Amino acid sequence: LVPVICIDGPTASGKGTVAAVVAQKLGYHFLDSGAMYRITALAATQAGLAIGPAQEPAIAALARQLPVRFADGKVFLGNQDVTETIRTEEAGMNASRVSALPSVRLALVDLQHGFRQLPGLVADGRDMGTVIFPDAALKIFLTASARQRAERRYKQLISKGISATLGGIQQDLEARDARDMSRQAAPLKPADDAALLDNSELSIEESVAQVLKLWQG
Ligand code: C5P
Repeated sequence: LVPVICIDGPTASGKGTVAAVVAQKLGYHFLDSGAMYRITALAATQAGLAIGPAQEPAIAALARQLPVRFADGKVFLGNQDVTETIRTEEAGMNASRVSALPSVRLALVDLQHGFRQLPGLVADGRDMGTVIFPDAALKIFLTASARQRAERRYKQLISKGISATLGGIQQDLEARDARDMSRQAAPLKPADDAALLDNSELSIEESVAQVLKLWQG
């Protein structure tokens, strides 16, 4: 069986960066499952579909046939380079809304399973350990305080020249976490067998080291 390491946790906990570095160090494949929801939301918007239960069947149909491609660190929807477009706060919020629709989640299962290839996979998301790869060899639930996460996101945005306020960001990410935790379909929560890792006081390198230590036993 192909080994899988799941790294789940709330918005801006650093899991994406940590998961990518761990994958690189182990020479494993990397699944950014949040990108699937971000791309689905974008595809729905571009198709003129309002993101909500009324359009759930149509959005799920889009998700089932999602022409997504990852190449050279870029993300493509069809021929369109959407690497930057899917990273905005608005895209994140739309992803969170689309991800609350159960049939959309179901439509994306096969796509995610397809990333499980030798020599191994590091999967980043909200439900990697609870739903998508329940038999994963290692599950990490990575968290940090809302304040820390807001500060990290704030610095990222400012460094890209995007204007933002710390308070606004914290409010947005708390709203997104609340929706992710309270939804019926695959709510955000640690798997029973997940190791909890709070990285409020850890650098990326220190978090990576902790994960590798757990992996190597
Ligand atoms: O991780 P990222 O911020 O890119 O995820 C965007 C949104 O997609 C999250 O707020 C969450 O609602 C949703 N998501 C999910 N399940 C995953 C990954 C992301 O519901 N496995």
